[in-house]
Amino acid sequence: MLKGIALALLLCVTVSAGAQESRQLATVIYAGQIVAFASSAERLGDECFVPAAELDRLGWNASVRGSQARVVVAGRTVDTFARRRGGTDFVPLRAVVSAVGGRSEWTTESVLTVYATIRRIAVRETGIEVDVRGPVSHRVLRMDSPPRIVVDVYGARLDPGAAPETSGEFRMSQFDANTVRVVAQLNVLAEPQGGLTPEGSIRVFWSGARTVKPDPYRPSPNAPTPMTLGTPEVVSDTDDETIIQIPFQGGVPGTFSVLRDTAGVHWVNFPSARLGPNARLVDLTARAIRSGRLMDRPGGGLALRFEIEQPMGIHVGARGPNLLVRISRPKHSGGGLAGKIIVVDAGHGGTDPGASWGTLLEKDINLDIARHVARYLAEGGATVLMTREDDTFIALNDRPAMANASGAHLFISIHTNSNNIVNSTSGTFTYYHMQDPDSRALAECIQAEVVKVTGLPDHGARSDSEVYKVGGFAVLRHSRMPAVLFETAYINHERDRQKLMDPEFRRAVAEAIVRGIEVYVGNENKGRR
Ligand SMILES: [Zn+2]
Repeated sequence: MLKGIALALLLCVTVSAGAQESRQLATVIYAGQIVAFASSAERLGDECFVPAAELDRLGWNASVRGSQARVVVAGRTVDTFARRRGGTDFVPLRAVVSAVGGRSEWTTESVLTVYATIRRIAVRETGIEVDVRGPVSHRVLRMDSPPRIVVDVYGARLDPGAAPETSGEFRMSQFDANTVRVVAQLNVLAEPQGGLTPEGSIRVFWSGARTVKPDPYRPSPNAPTPMTLGTPEVVSDTDDETIIQIPFQGGVPGTFSVLRDTAGVHWVNFPSARLGPNARLVDLTARAIRSGRLMDRPGGGLALRFEIEQPMGIHVGARGPNLLVRISRPKHSGGGLAGKIIVVDAGHGGTDPGASWGTLLEKDINLDIARHVARYLAEGGATVLMTREDDTFIALNDRPAMANASGAHLFISIHTNSNNIVNSTSGTFTYYHMQDPDSRALAECIQAEVVKVTGLPDHGARSDSEVYKVGGFAVLRHSRMPAVLFETAYINHERDRQKLMDPEFRRAVAEAIVRGIEVYVGNENKGRR
């Protein structure tokens, strides 16, 4: 189980911020929409750098002189710094957003969501006022039965720690992750008017007598449109990488997710997308994929569905007016086990027993499985390092540190699950960090092999952000190679526990983990036990 990891994890976030200078392309979601920068935004440490020359896409203005930048946001001036890279000046988006009272968060490793909080909502006889902190866009809907006015505030969140000041009768809700909905009911139909004020708040009015009042407010210049996708196209196709380009417009956050279903089919889901005018649902062929197709998604929206011949990393990002789905050979795949350095981490140990059931301790189960995994990997030709070979306490951060220091190619952490309710959940999970494409591919390979032998529910390969939204698991976050955390089964579920107590089950699980690793590194036909 993972509970013990939470605290150490929060500490790590603070300590490591800024320490590493790893740079990666970033997608920015601003006022509820993906921003299409022509020069890509970049993540550097915890900051997101955006091209100064393109800040008008956010409705901002910037002037850069050397390493100094002056940014004007909704009439407010923020002095900050600029970084020059490849002839382009970049400014720190998060610092500017924070300076004007907005908030931002890395919702995945590469997606920065800028959001506003609601300061005040007032609903009067003839109007709705919503005051926000931070950038938003919005739409106003009139609904007829019963008559009501709906204001959707895109890019906003209700902050549990700071509830908005409210007056009047209305309903408000967090409609989706980045939309706050305010609904006022009326006694007769009325036509709403108004919109975003120059100060960035929302004023909507109506008139029961249907007299047209002068509208002192300009309509929102950037009301989001739902995400529309154009015809997908394979724009690059080599042995190592296939890139599918999909033109897009508009869009709301949480717009894509990647998953592999139990049949082994991959889905890149766009749950809120619809097909643009003239766009076509077409079949896609490329070296890496077979039967690829953009199609209507079961459950709504669109999905890119494809099968792949071998483990591939799948990365989705926005660049200019396009989404790019990059399907590439994952890191340290190919060449088989020989020559690979693999760190096998038996979770917990020593004074930290992990989860337990009576005298049955997670640390012992983990170590037994890890020893088998290490032995099978070594037999396959890999160089194996174990973070512990006996019942020793090892600090959480020392585990990935060992992997990093040894130049390991893969990191496998082995755990046993537990939760608060006895017999409530059963089955196997393999976690990867955030949206890391390589670790996801490794997790998918291991999970697929293990569920063949456990006879337990298959919970799939999952992002650790599902467990800890900020930061994920420390052992995965700090590992600089493809890394997974494997949860064999639940110690507090009777069926799982019977299996966990069986030495042959533990050995078979270890063997399956190794088969999964072999599939990843590309020698699935050799050394098959
Ligand atoms: Zn554990």
